[in-house]
Amino acid sequence: SIVVVGSSNTDMVIKSPYLPKPGETILGGTFFMNAGGKGANQAVAAARLGGNVSFIAKVGNDVFGKEAVTGFQKEGIDTAYVFTDATQPSGVALINVDDNGENCIVVASGANAALSTTDIDNARDKIINASIVLVQLETPLTTVAHVAALANDYGVTIILNPAPATKLDDALLAHIAVITPNQHEAAMLTGIEVNDTASAKHAAKILHGKGVKTVIITLGADGALLYHNDFFTGVASPVVKAADTTAAGDVFNGALAVALAEGKSVQHAVAYACSAAAISVTRLGAQASAPYRNEVANPAE
Ligand code: ADP
Repeated sequence: SIVVVGSSNTDMVIKSPYLPKPGETILGGTFFMNAGGKGANQAVAAARLGGNVSFIAKVGNDVFGKEAVTGFQKEGIDTAYVFTDATQPSGVALINVDDNGENCIVVASGANAALSTTDIDNARDKIINASIVLVQLETPLTTVAHVAALANDYGVTIILNPAPATKLDDALLAHIAVITPNQHEAAMLTGIEVNDTASAKHAAKILHGKGVKTVIITLGADGALLYHNDFFTGVASPVVKAADTTAAGDVFNGALAVALAEGKSVQHAVAYACSAAAISVTRLGAQASAPYRNEVANPAE
């Protein structure tokens, strides 16, 4: 099975003609609410693509948390390890968007910040028996490091999507089998400004030098660069008309996990991930944009 460990948020979005200044009240906005959080987005993406997905996460004892769990179950995700925190509220992102698409976002991590190493220990059997473990960085780093050490000890392939961008310890990186930074995250991790193939290769070699077996740097519309077994492969993304690139990376990671869990080669898995992510950028929303299995063409072998 695929075990996703990560965040669940409720995104509360208000669209208004312009963004408010401090102290200002604007009438006439329109409101919508979306399920979000990188962990949840990736779990949903993997489930829609046919993955047998368990999600390890933490929500609050409130209506947002209950709604989120119901949503995961509707997607066919196993929620046995979605824990409920007694004191923290569910994660919420308050998002203001103006007519130009400019936004202001405040995230209250809430229960996501309470996902602990003890929670991971309570889900230990699930993790050590997984075929793929997929993590991101919207839960505490100590928790991520604990998952990585456990997966590494038991030879379970762990994919780290190092988002949002931050610097990471070498000790953590040494436990990661597959890392999937975008250009900005790769720059943060390596100190190399990544803006073309040569710089992406340089950054990939640095990450590999820290003990990460397989490095995949996503390059937006340009697809992805794979470094695996001392060999670089450039993988193109299908050319699409982009409508909303939110969660492109999340769909990429969910799809990558599905293909690897099915025993596909890493080259095949990256091509599949690019195809799935390209579909998601043609649609609005985060989880809403994640494609279903029958929509994604299988790459030629
Ligand atoms: P993130 O969404 O995390 O910032 P990227 O922008 O690198 O990461 O996008 C992740 C993947 O989504 C890319 O590797 C690519 O496959 C796909 N993608 C993103 N933007 C586009 C686009 N404009 N056209 C086609 N595919 C895209």
